[in-house]
Amino acid sequence: MIALRNVTKSYKTSTRPALDNVSVDIAKGEFVFVIGPSGSGKSTFMRLLLKDEKPTSGEVWVTDLRVDKLPARKVPKLRQRMGCVFQDFRLLQQKTVEQNVAFALEVIGKSGSFISRAVPEALDMVGLSGKADRLPSELSGGEQQRVALARAFVNRPLVLLADEPTGNLDPDTSQDIMTLLERINRTGTTVVMATHDNTIVDAMRRRVVELDRGRLVRDDETGVYGVGR
Ligand code: ADP
Ligand code: ADP
Repeated sequence: MIALRNVTKSYKTSTRPALDNVSVDIAKGEFVFVIGPSGSGKSTFMRLLLKDEKPTSGEVWVTDLRVDKLPARKVPKLRQRMGCVFQDFRLLQQKTVEQNVAFALEVIGKSGSFISRAVPEALDMVGLSGKADRLPSELSGGEQQRVALARAFVNRPLVLLADEPTGNLDPDTSQDIMTLLERINRTGTTVVMATHDNTIVDAMRRRVVELDRGRLVRDDETGVYGVGR
């Protein structure tokens, strides 16, 4: 589903690579944490998968698409297979909850009838049916992240990327988000989550890929954060 093969990413402005000869294979349906301290390369890892950045060397694969060689005209095809959520939610502030989710489908040309069916389903899944007409500013942080999850999942992507999705949330709210990510994963969606929240990683007992200064230092089937350090 996802593969990095000997991937190195060096940003022009920095001396050591942000990712240094990293190889990882992620199968369909897996739930994988990407962990490591700030600056270890987690965001770079995620951005390479989205083709927001290009590797300096190596291959990046998502499904049958070779991302690092993907021509610009095929990038929409890649992005349609992936949903993303971020620490800062990235909702459109002037649109309602429902409009935020619908817009993700409008921009990829889905029909009105599809949208009017899919959006309520997605909002129901994240428990926000009752708040469809609210603006993001009227919601708590946890609710905003649930909207972002509904938006990321409404098109049933093969892969969900979550970059520090609980970074701005308190522990209880973070747990709600993790429950939703597990539910999404159970539908068969591959979930890749970057985090440095060790409580969450320890509780979930999922595969852990650990980066340290750009190098892959650990890949455990059911890891616990920080073991061996
Ligand atoms: P993390 O998400 O684990 O904090 P990042 O992938 O953001 O790590 O960063 C890895 C390294 O790459 C850091 O040294 C960071 O300063 C550097 N870096 C990240 N993005 C850029 C960029 N756009 N330009 C230059 N250096 C960057
Ligand atoms: P990046 O530039 O890092 O790819 P974006 O901020 O463009 O991230 O997108 C973040 C998330 O929001 C993605 O899931 C994307 O599909 C979604 N998204 C981006 N722009 C819009 C938009 N105008 N309306 C709805 N969803 C959007």
